[in-house]
Amino acid sequence: MTTSKSEFEINKTPEEWREILTPEQYKVMREHGTELACTSPLDKQYTEGTYVCAACEQPLFTSETKFNSGTGWPSFFKPIEGAIGKSVDKSFFMTRTEVHCSRCGGHLGHEFDDGPEPTGKRYCMNGVSLKFIPD
Ligand code: FE
Repeated sequence: MTTSKSEFEINKTPEEWREILTPEQYKVMREHGTELACTSPLDKQYTEGTYVCAACEQPLFTSETKFNSGTGWPSFFKPIEGAIGKSVDKSFFMTRTEVHCSRCGGHLGHEFDDGPEPTGKRYCMNGVSLKFIPD
């Protein structure tokens, strides 16, 4: 995955990120890992609030756009405007749209075209990459 260091507003060295993030968060957000399905407490959470980036706290999704995808990962049909960036991910013999925080470049998950109306998109997110702030 190529996300050059200088393209984001928040840039840190791997050492600096390791101080801020848990080992699991580092693996997902900085090394494009994927948490095990059905492990995030945020997967089944539907109360009102905002989901922010676990690394830099930029607001990414609101609870109004969250839905139960049945995948075991927190899923949304629309990000907050300007909150995410995308790249092409060709790992695991698939071509997928990778999704990251537009502010710090932290990997969040992937975007798929099988989501509900009104967007038809499914943003499949790693719960460890998100922090929930209740309203
Ligand atoms: Fe971020």
